[in-house]
Amino acid sequence: MSAHQPMVIGITGGIGSGKTAATDAFTTLGISVVDADLVAREVVQPGQPALAAITDHFGQHILLPDGNLDRPALREIIFRDPSAKQWLEALLHPLIRQEIVSRLRHSDSPYTLLSSPLLLETDQQTLCNRVLVIDAPASVQLARAMARDNSSADTIKAIMASQLDRQQRLAQADDIITNDGDLLALHDAVQAMHKTYLELKANTL
Ligand code: ATP
Repeated sequence: MSAHQPMVIGITGGIGSGKTAATDAFTTLGISVVDADLVAREVVQPGQPALAAITDHFGQHILLPDGNLDRPALREIIFRDPSAKQWLEALLHPLIRQEIVSRLRHSDSPYTLLSSPLLLETDQQTLCNRVLVIDAPASVQLARAMARDNSSADTIKAIMASQLDRQQRLAQADDIITNDGDLLALHDAVQAMHKTYLELKANTL
């Protein structure tokens, strides 16, 4: 990272780990966030070329009556058909990456967070100077996600099983915030990490 390049911190974690809660805490400290999930939804909004490509490929029935993408229907198709999944990823990943790059470039906070549940599963981590993992024990993830989504333990466990294993995720972290306490403890940990990032940034100037 040179003095003129923006510093990008990738932030990730499993379901219910507290990525959003942590990201919100960074936002209150004045740090800009690029949300990969949000970008992924925006590139398939009505009027976007990607949505036209998807309807050409899968047919009009992939749209809801209001013209929006029927996400559950598409999820179902790609769950059953690996070649459909591959096709969709080849279409969307470059578009998502391009939009992320553009937003990171336009950010003007001392450093910028790239928040992505798939940071370590995609090439999005190559856009980052450091990777911050929000970590919580599986039992805590499960309890939080069940309460938040009103979902069954089986549903959340299935999602956890489809995600990167906790140890694999931690092995790729430069920084870790253990989010196993209350929200006040999380805010304190974010504040300490923020201080570290500002010092790192100052040392590159
Ligand atoms: P997902 O990947 O599913 O979007 P996430 O990692 O963004 O999950 P959050 O939505 O931030 O997780 O947290 C899950 C739930 O747990 C939320 O309802 C959040 O308010 C709550 N939560 C997160 N951290 C804490 C904490 N330290 N104390 C109490 N509640 C917390």
